[in-house]
Amino acid sequence: MTDNRNLLVIGGGISGLASAFFLQQKGFKVTLLEAAARVGGNIQSLEHNGFLMERGPNSWIHNRHGMAQLLDDLDLHDECVMANSVAKRRYIAQNGQLVALPDSIGGILTTPMLNLRGKLRLLAEPCFGRATHEESIAEFITRRLGSQCLDWLVDPFVSGIYAGDPKQLSVQAAMPKLYALETKYGSLMRGGVVQLQQTRRQSRDPALTGAMLSFRRGLRQLTESLEQQLGKVIHTNVEVDRINYGGKLSWQVYSGDHLWQTSHLVLAVPANQVARLISEIDDNQNGTIKQAQAYLRAVEYPAVASINMAFKRHQISHPLDGFGALIPYREQRRTLGVLFPSSVFTGRCPKDTCLLTAFIGGARNNEVMTWSPARRQQQVHNDLSDLLGIIGSPLWVEESFWPQAIPQYTLGHLQRVEQIEASLANFSGLYLRSNWHDGVALGDCIDNAWQLAQQAAREYD
Ligand SMILES: Cc1cc2nc3c(=O)[nH]c(=O)nc-3n(C[C@H](O)[C@H](O)[C@H](O)COP(=O)(O)OP(=O)(O)OC[C@H]3O[C@@H](n4cnc5c(N)ncnc54)[C@H](O)[C@@H]3O)c2cc1C
Repeated sequence: MTDNRNLLVIGGGISGLASAFFLQQKGFKVTLLEAAARVGGNIQSLEHNGFLMERGPNSWIHNRHGMAQLLDDLDLHDECVMANSVAKRRYIAQNGQLVALPDSIGGILTTPMLNLRGKLRLLAEPCFGRATHEESIAEFITRRLGSQCLDWLVDPFVSGIYAGDPKQLSVQAAMPKLYALETKYGSLMRGGVVQLQQTRRQSRDPALTGAMLSFRRGLRQLTESLEQQLGKVIHTNVEVDRINYGGKLSWQVYSGDHLWQTSHLVLAVPANQVARLISEIDDNQNGTIKQAQAYLRAVEYPAVASINMAFKRHQISHPLDGFGALIPYREQRRTLGVLFPSSVFTGRCPKDTCLLTAFIGGARNNEVMTWSPARRQQQVHNDLSDLLGIIGSPLWVEESFWPQAIPQYTLGHLQRVEQIEASLANFSGLYLRSNWHDGVALGDCIDNAWQLAQQAAREYD
């Protein structure tokens, strides 16, 4: 390592923390600047009256190498908690009732969620050819599996993951694995069967179990552990205003009167923040910065509120024997879905009580976010009461408002990201890492940080 390998990370969410950590492991001298008083970004676990709840993400799926590496490096394996087996069951609301989502071919054939026409249409899937243009999730699913499948099986997951609109999101960008089954095998069913057989044959990395996980003290244990490892490298309450490029790996980073000089810079902040930060970079008037800014500003982030509610167990008649319930748009309720965290993870609430985490808002419910918290909470209560058989008021309610919850990978997203990368390619030592880039799940953010560290180390060794 040479002394001039300074690296500055802007943003202390999981993307920034993991990037800083992996790059430090590769020998870079790292500094991390975070606008808020704490690091962690969306990850916020809270303890309250014997309850352990999450305000943002609740869990992750253990299927990415970056996360396995991070757990190894932080020695966190023993702190992981695995979801209880009930979490395999997911409910979907249909006609005012919760129906368990089928989890096998047999289950699909017998589920009351699709009528005979819907089932026959689904079974005809291998007969349909490939698309000739980029499609939305709604177009792709309707073409391959039929409209019933879209409305009852896919739409609720799009709400659950992206709080998004399937008519707006690009299937290539937002559901790349599903899309790949068509491009590679010509059919989702054929591709699914081949992949299942391959997984059974190949010896999978034993570290990647595909399990749903959290930590004993909630997800914040991960960000706290990263914070502890990085130590004095982290500077909180530092909102970066702008950056400048002096050529030849020379970056200046400004926050008020403070200036940092660095050779390498990672922007681990939302897309609109990147657009703001790069505005004063001199591009010799060739327009590349303005072009990148236009594409960055096109990334939309709808608002979402996550509402944690505690109840006495006897107040809810539903067995809560699942991960949670998703509410399709066709049901015409405002609530997107509800998780059953105290069923998924043991030890999340005192005896004889339970915890629900509901989500409201998103791309198709913008106006809900202009309401008062009390009105939103009442709406969630109304939406869930008959579905879960809730009697009476919660013991307490806690709302977290996310004004920019999840970036929407809308039609053209992949091309826009490519254009942004191309526009900034001449400014060497600049890296973009955040959930608007290559995946919104925690595992994606960490894997992207891990890959960045490999790339940066290769480039500068
Ligand atoms: C309600 C909700 C539920 C979710 N549930 C799940 C889930 O169960 N599982 C899952 O895998 N994923 C989930 N996600 C997605 C996942 O949490 C996010 O994609 C991920 O945490 C994003 O991390 P990030 O570091 O890219 O961004 P962020 O967490 O947004 O971090 C960005 C950081 O940059 C800082 N910053 C911004 N501008 C500046 C500036 N100018 N100067 C300095 N600092 C700045 C911010 O303060 C922030 O700390 C959920 C997200 C939300 C909102």
